[in-house]
Amino acid sequence: MKHRRRLRGRFLPIGALLLAALVACTPGRPAADLLLTGGSVLDGTGGEALTADIAVSGDRIVFVGDAGASGLTATDTLDVTDLVVMPGFIDMHSHAELDTGHGRDARAFLYQGITTVALGMDGGGDPEVADRLARWTADGIGVNAFLFVGHNAVRRRVMGMEDREPSAGELDAMRDLVRQGMDEGAHGLSSGLFYLPGNYAETEEVIELNRVAAAYDGAIYDTHDRDLGAAYPPFGYLESIAEGIRIGEEAGTKVIFSHFNAQGAHNYGRAHEGAALIEAARARGVEVAGAHHSYTATQSNLRSYTIPGWAVIGGDMAMVRRFDDPDTVAVIDRQTREMLEIRGGAGRLLFADQRPDLNGKTLQDVADEWGLDAPATARRILRDGNAAVMNLGLYDIENVRYLAQLDWMMTCTDGRDPGPTRPVTHPRAFGSFTKKIRDLVLDEQLITLPHTVRSMTGLAADFLGWPDRGYLREGYAADITVLDVGAVEDMATYEDPHQYSRGTVHVLVNGTFAIRDGEATMALPGRALARGGKPFDAG
Ligand SMILES: [Zn+2]
Repeated sequence: MKHRRRLRGRFLPIGALLLAALVACTPGRPAADLLLTGGSVLDGTGGEALTADIAVSGDRIVFVGDAGASGLTATDTLDVTDLVVMPGFIDMHSHAELDTGHGRDARAFLYQGITTVALGMDGGGDPEVADRLARWTADGIGVNAFLFVGHNAVRRRVMGMEDREPSAGELDAMRDLVRQGMDEGAHGLSSGLFYLPGNYAETEEVIELNRVAAAYDGAIYDTHDRDLGAAYPPFGYLESIAEGIRIGEEAGTKVIFSHFNAQGAHNYGRAHEGAALIEAARARGVEVAGAHHSYTATQSNLRSYTIPGWAVIGGDMAMVRRFDDPDTVAVIDRQTREMLEIRGGAGRLLFADQRPDLNGKTLQDVADEWGLDAPATARRILRDGNAAVMNLGLYDIENVRYLAQLDWMMTCTDGRDPGPTRPVTHPRAFGSFTKKIRDLVLDEQLITLPHTVRSMTGLAADFLGWPDRGYLREGYAADITVLDVGAVEDMATYEDPHQYSRGTVHVLVNGTFAIRDGEATMALPGRALARGGKPFDAG
């Protein structure tokens, strides 16, 4: 352990000399477990690729340089000439199902080169952070994972689905839950002010809760912001971004806008206006950033996309009671039509739901099948529970292209694994990172590979405040992705999403192969990471 600390942050020739000395001191014993030789190395800084060998021992990178010149040997040597070696990718907004029976290996993510995922997003993270981290540690997970404590989860627990301000006692109870999450290792507070019950909260409530997180070093406020461009009734695309910045700025945390983009045809071409607000905040010293992917469809749930918030006050049972009142239903249906218009119509809502009679069909398809109009169809579906749904064409590709070029834009999947009974899911779970490389780097040559890899690695690690992940450096965690870049391709489509990405040759998570020679090893080498990127210690 001691020599690793000395090696950290050093570069050739000092590192090479140290290792050469190490080898000389231990004749007959290999210096490293694994050596990747001859690869083109992108280290995560955004700098140009350099040819270098990389050695791994245990869970650490122990050498970056010319192994031959240093006399370095390893138990296992892989020639990666003609391949590009980079830090494992960090998915800044994920819905990977690491807790379920089918998503633990995280293969859809690993095949994109992802080695770490953020969970507890959109306000959904429970305050029992240590329980979840301990469960991952005990059961094993395919990728590293870290957590946020969620505003919606906390509010729902204290206040249910009430559309009102919290009492002083309720606010204190919510503060206690956020504090618990942070004490147990959360990276910060996430909110989903677009969703319920988060949408019932005033800005001040979120600031107050974010102040609790702000007491912890490096705390982050992660926002699925209130409007995103397509909320009903509209809060305002720019007003919503301003609110997110204010919540972090007043409380004193960093801010990240999740799946950042401008939704709705009325916002096509407007991403630069939202980005300008973020850049103004950055200029005055607020640490604000974003993460995005390059799909033009979203995925969420039918209730959020078709039922106005007032009709859900009190919860789903109360909503269904309102469906039974003819006067109320007339108002709901009129507003549902307005909501569908913002979203491009019922033909743009494609089900990605557990129910086989819905999965793969649009709301319009189901309406035609049932001989009902779209609002009545949505209500009938929602009587049996909320449904997962994609909204096709909600984002504008020009906005995507603009955002991809920004130097503060990280990358995320926002993706959820398909379940055994859910063959259709958003392809972003399988292809967000590889699609960004395929479309924007290789095909369009809009952004460079070093810039893109940085958006997936070092940029995220710096924002997270992690001292030993996100870069290919001696002493850092051996999360390593090796791509045959020319062959990189996202294969998942909206119709047939369950397709692993191509071009991913090797993926190491904490020094262990999760993918080797293009084949998933089904090892579970991921770690549960507490704040600061430190492996969770159940003790
Ligand atoms: Zn979200």
